[in-house]
Amino acid sequence: MASIYCADCGTGCALVDGREVDPHDPEIADVRVWACPECPCAWAHHAAAADAPAAVPAGAETRHAREVLAERLVLPLVHEGSGGLAGAQALAIDRLTNFLAYRMGIEPDECEVARFSLEQCRQAWRELRGVRFADVLAHAQRHRGAKRRASASGDGVAA
Ligand SMILES: [Zn+2]
Repeated sequence: MASIYCADCGTGCALVDGREVDPHDPEIADVRVWACPECPCAWAHHAAAADAPAAVPAGAETRHAREVLAERLVLPLVHEGSGGLAGAQALAIDRLTNFLAYRMGIEPDECEVARFSLEQCRQAWRELRGVRFADVLAHAQRHRGAKRRASASGDGVAA
């Protein structure tokens, strides 16, 4: 597996007992997490099925920024784009991922909220604030035929 680095400081992270990271956080009390040895309470859940971190490890401020970005901007846009239909979600996520990646100047497979640093959360917030899904569709039409690079997992920005 590739090395895992903290989103906040770039230090290599290790899989440890959650209790060692933050004994007061019930969310991680009984699980192993990927934790930064430098930043206090910087961690990410371990996805056992994939045997990999579920996100890039980060401290409370970054994790909170990711949650707010997903809840207030990303998920409403996915909902708008899919019309609330579960079957249409993957395409809406794919289009939104390409749209945001283009605006942020990163690769679509790097454009995933769970991987964002605090600064990327702020950048994504600026890029998505006030955006309607019609803007995302217009972008998709302008870039039709451009090489599509959705994330291999299909999770994209909303993961
Ligand atoms: Zn760190």
